[in-house]
Amino acid sequence: MDSLEKLGMEVRKHYPELDGYRIDFNYRFLRNAAAIYHYTKYVIDPLQVKISYDIKNRSRKSKRGIIAHELAHIYLDLKNMRRPGGLSAEVARYNRSKSYRIKSEIEADTVAVVRGFGPDLLEFVKTRDEDAIDSHGGLTVEEIRLLMKNLGYLI
Ligand SMILES: [Zn+2]
Repeated sequence: MDSLEKLGMEVRKHYPELDGYRIDFNYRFLRNAAAIYHYTKYVIDPLQVKISYDIKNRSRKSKRGIIAHELAHIYLDLKNMRRPGGLSAEVARYNRSKSYRIKSEIEADTVAVVRGFGPDLLEFVKTRDEDAIDSHGGLTVEEIRLLMKNLGYLI
């Protein structure tokens, strides 16, 4: 089985905007989430992607899907950052506002699909739905399929 670090390296190749950032990938016990990422308040390097132990025995594809989703969050947060410390402002907003959270999750899923991880994300979302892990509201299986179709992927 591939290590999480190896999968992370594989997936981040599709996010060249993150080149130069150190990103650590680790399993953690997480409540109510499949994955999260962290950074310190003023220094964004290294970033930490934490994947729930619940996901550890999932397929390679499924794990690539959740990693692609987390990296999409990081990519979007960096893109939206307008000043140093802006990342923590993003997190505060995320925690405060449900509509912002839903929008962020949909955006992250969309980026992951556009970057070529549609099949991986699809697999992740299917198994997540079966296990009823809290999704925080991202794209549904049908929406991922539709987006892939619209982007011209053969599914
Ligand atoms: Zn997310």
